Amino acid sequence: MKLKILGSGNIFSEDNYASYLIDNKILIDIPSGTCKTLKRLGINSRNIVDVLITHFHGDHYFDMPFMLLNKIYIDNNKLNIYCDDSGKDKIYDLTKLAFPNKLDKIYKYFNYDNSKNFCINDYEIERVLVEHEEGIESNGYIFKQNDIRVGFSGDAGMCEGIHIMAKKCNHLICDCTALNGKKSHIGVDNIIELSQTYKECIFYTTHMGDGVRDKIKSLGIKNLVALNDYDEFSF
Ligand SMILES: [Zn+2]
Repeated sequence: MKLKILGSGNIFSEDNYASYLIDNKILIDIPSGTCKTLKRLGINSRNIVDVLITHFHGDHYFDMPFMLLNKIYIDNNKLNIYCDDSGKDKIYDLTKLAFPNKLDKIYKYFNYDNSKNFCINDYEIERVLVEHEEGIESNGYIFKQNDIRVGFSGDAGMCEGIHIMAKKCNHLICDCTALNGKKSHIGVDNIIELSQTYKECIFYTTHMGDGVRDKIKSLGIKNLVALNDYDEFSF
């Protein structure tokens, strides 16, 4: 797996919004600015066929109407969208708000899949429910390929889903929004505990607010890595 970090920040940081690109063609989340970021990196949006959405907060899917417009006018190919049951209505509503006259066309340019287990290319993918905010479903995803298990927590507080992912994964791209964890977001205090409990897993902090990256770096924990925008990894 080739992984590129498109963004590692939360809403208030100067980093891009958290999102990731796998093998130059699979997106995990599509926050504001994603289409422009891809173009600046020289990645043609036509390559993007699969988008997995962790949850429907604005900083995780607000570039979807622009990606769909790229599909209609430039790329002429379809997008597969993987997300929870609420996704189809949320994407429809957002697109209607952005481009009310394009809805008929846009529907022909995406497939929607709410399966909990599915395959993309030779990855087996498992959706894992995590706890985030009241009234909003949030999911992590685990990509399995041979012996490699790479997880993306999405936005999450410490919960059973996070323990499941940490136990199963060799690499976990993990929410670490603030210095102190709370119900809706993992903090540095929580991720220290996770990295010490699950020593077989390397944790990569993302969705970071101010001060988190420096704090993680200062800890010097072997299996705990602070991400930067545009980092690249091969697993
Ligand atoms: Zn969120």
